[in-house]
Amino acid sequence: MKVPLLDLKEQYRSYKDELLPELERLFDSQLFILGEAVRNLEAEIASYCGVDHGIGVASGSDALLLSLMALDIGPGDEVITTPYTFFSTASAIVRLGAKPVFVDIDPVTCNIDPAGIEQKVTKRTRAILPVHLYGQAAEMGLIGEIASKYHLRVVEDAAQAIGAEYDGKRAGALGDAGCLSFFPSKNLGGFGDGGMVVTRSEEMAEKIRVLRVHGMKPKYVHKYVGVNSRLDALQAVVLSIKLKKLDACHQKRREHADYYQDLFEKAGLTESGDVVLPKETHGGDSAFRHVYNQYVIRVRKRDALRAFLAKEGVGTEVYYPIPLHLQECFADLGHHEGDFPESERAAKETLALPVYPELTEKMQEYVVGRIAAFCREHRP
Ligand SMILES: *Cc1c(COP(=O)(O)O)cnc(C)c1O
Repeated sequence: MKVPLLDLKEQYRSYKDELLPELERLFDSQLFILGEAVRNLEAEIASYCGVDHGIGVASGSDALLLSLMALDIGPGDEVITTPYTFFSTASAIVRLGAKPVFVDIDPVTCNIDPAGIEQKVTKRTRAILPVHLYGQAAEMGLIGEIASKYHLRVVEDAAQAIGAEYDGKRAGALGDAGCLSFFPSKNLGGFGDGGMVVTRSEEMAEKIRVLRVHGMKPKYVHKYVGVNSRLDALQAVVLSIKLKKLDACHQKRREHADYYQDLFEKAGLTESGDVVLPKETHGGDSAFRHVYNQYVIRVRKRDALRAFLAKEGVGTEVYYPIPLHLQECFADLGHHEGDFPESERAAKETLALPVYPELTEKMQEYVVGRIAAFCREHRP
């Protein structure tokens, strides 16, 4: 049996008939940059996230960069974030000449451990940049308390977490601004790169709208040195259609997570300690929703298991194999192995399994069956 990590083709079949006429209308108009389709999507996503403003940009990475630019973060400033994330969380900070100050993760969720934040706050700290890794919100209650105590801004990296909920609020509505990605593998994926900043702040929204078009308003009058980072109308047309099915997709991913849990428990792999399953915080309280952009387990012989599964036709991935404090390009931050032990351990143990909505029970049974076979053979 073949079980890919992600299969977008089947999903495409489900909305293709609705999409193609819309695309044809767009192609006939030959209007590709921003425009009505993007404005509509911005309003739809803002409303989905529970905020007033959405600003479509070229990628999730640019959403992060533009959010920090809008807060005037630059040389001499510090931004507290996690080292266990995708590269652009930290590169957005560094690109602006500011310094990422890392705080290790909570090993249960792989999200920034709020207990480590306060001791890293200095006079230079301007913002906290939590990541809602794998589709589960970071501990935003505690993070918000620290932010208000020290007058810090909070920018959420919600690239993996559109639709995730924390205490009844959606990712992107929990800080000053939320950064979404529409990279094809995200829960709401487009047909290429795309991203959006969502925010309650009229002031931030207005500034990011200007910054994304070279800091220009009105035409050829430049208030700031901005960037060229706009969402294509083509992406907006695709995403508007896919947004209608997003909650059903989240639901499927959550059902798959439940079924994996059943299967792993029945195979005895959790009790034996061979496999550690992802855990939802707040004990299944329905005001907190994990949207499982990734279903990530922990195992001891991770790389050997991954190679074995690849041979057996099961696609997996490691998010992420090298924590950011150990990346060569951040060497001047002066970090060493051992500085963030939980992030380093996660980098060696985590393994993402297929969890896309169209996965079948048979496929999940096969995945767990193969993992069980591997574990039986490799017990100490
Ligand atoms: C995908 C991702 C990004 C970047 O999004 P792009 O659209 O690929 O630029 C940023 N942060 C995290 C945590 C991500 O998963």
